[in-house]
Amino acid sequence: PPPPLYIITPTYRRPEQLAELTRLGYTLKHISNLFWLVIEDAEKPTTLVTKLLQKINVPFSHLVAQMPEKFRKNKVKPRGVSNRNRGLEWIRANASDGVLYFADDDNTYDLDIFDEMRYTKKVSMWPVGLITKYGVSSPIVRNGTISGFYDGWIGGRKFPVDMAGFAVNVNFLISRPNASMPYKPGYEEDGFLKSLSPLNLTEIELMASNCTQILVWHTQSKKNPNAMALDMTKYNNTNLV
Ligand code: UDP
Ligand code: MN
Repeated sequence: PPPPLYIITPTYRRPEQLAELTRLGYTLKHISNLFWLVIEDAEKPTTLVTKLLQKINVPFSHLVAQMPEKFRKNKVKPRGVSNRNRGLEWIRANASDGVLYFADDDNTYDLDIFDEMRYTKKVSMWPVGLITKYGVSSPIVRNGTISGFYDGWIGGRKFPVDMAGFAVNVNFLISRPNASMPYKPGYEEDGFLKSLSPLNLTEIELMASNCTQILVWHTQSKKNPNAMALDMTKYNNTNLV
């Protein structure tokens, strides 16, 4: 069998949650040897997510990791950080080979990216579409290696990339026992990738045909103002709740 893929998905309760997880779950169902770590930013697992995971039937582990209280009141929150760190902890405890990828519940994924990232030896990267005013975030490739990054917001980062634009080998993660994601809005990717050091830019494996293709999009659902009609606990067209 091919090396296993561990997909870490943070999720939280809001009107769009069921739709987002449904789309992502049925995308992942096409991929072989995949394990889906769905981690709720909640006190305890919700019935909605529990039932959906049973229904979709992709191999999964359902975990919770609530955002620490002190960040919840902030205007700019470290979204999905507690969840992703819980996923990393699970991988350290349960996995021994393969590759991990942070797949937010609201993005859009071409199936090809999963079979490319699967063979990552240390860290791999590729472009992400529909992000910032530049429309794309990508490594800049010269002579087969990274010479810089194209991103609408560099922000003094060593790795100005989006969460959806890289994957990490599980054994490489395990070889970096202190690697984790910081509670630092805007710097989550950079902080996590720096925590994997030493990691030279020349070692980063380039996917999506040397970063010439867009296989992942940073899509975001528009909030529907009719919140009442979207209250999943009262109105849903399934028997999930
Ligand atoms: N998320 C979370 N708790 C929150 C906000 C977001 O667990 O309070 C999750 C969300 O479901 C998504 C990821 O964290 O998988 C990133 O959040 P979002 O998509 O809102 O961030 P953006 O794409 O706007 O940076
Ligand atoms: Mn998002």
